[in-house]
Amino acid sequence: MIRLKSEEEIALLRENALMVSKTLAEVGRHIEPGITTRELDAIAEQYIRSLGAVPGFLGFEGFPATLCMSVNDVVVHGFPSGYKLKEGDIVSVDCGTIYRGYFGDSAYTFPVGKVDARTQQLLDATKHSLELGIAQAVAGNRTGDIGEAIQSYCENLGFSVVRELVGHGLGTDMHESPEVPNYGRRGHGVKLREGMVICIEPMINAGRKEVYLDENGWAVHTADGKNSAHFEKTVVVRHGQPEVLTTFEFIEKNC
Ligand code: MG
Ligand code: MG
Repeated sequence: MIRLKSEEEIALLRENALMVSKTLAEVGRHIEPGITTRELDAIAEQYIRSLGAVPGFLGFEGFPATLCMSVNDVVVHGFPSGYKLKEGDIVSVDCGTIYRGYFGDSAYTFPVGKVDARTQQLLDATKHSLELGIAQAVAGNRTGDIGEAIQSYCENLGFSVVRELVGHGLGTDMHESPEVPNYGRRGHGVKLREGMVICIEPMINAGRKEVYLDENGWAVHTADGKNSAHFEKTVVVRHGQPEVLTTFEFIEKNC
């Protein structure tokens, strides 16, 4: 069942979105060679609590941390650890909050120092494909319009789209209906209606699309060991133009 949100609910989701946006920037400010993903997780947890919210992922279906920290070949759902980031890595930071009963959810993939040209292209393409997907999030369109926009852009550049993980609705639950795949066909899928709040989150691989689940039951890796990038925003479906609740402004002002 898809739950359309009232303007009061959207206001609460907007507050959460601002919090996750600021938290990602706070984490990004500290990303440099030598810092561990666990140290970054602690920074995020403290920051979220200082805003009066609680981490949205911590304890969610047993997830052990505030952030999903997914380095290089890890697509999503990596655990923060003692791993020290090094020059040339990329790290997807996925952040959730809960504030007044509603969720925030956004992700950004950061380069650590300077990355090689093809990796930078992967980051740029994934982020741009998110914007192309968002542009389709208008009432009357379908989820397939979002997926097709992301898929065709990324595949034209020689990248591939992960099939096993998709975007989702957001509200009082972190994963609500509908599913929002990053692949699809124009005019297919669930019809978008004013007041739907969705997370669009392309997960794009440098190499092949196949992935496997880590033995820890959480982290998803690329099967070929090549890099994967992930960007996510929370969006309200509106007539004419979508309303984007999260922003990368704070990150890109900082870095
Ligand atoms: Mg997320
Ligand atoms: Mg999400």
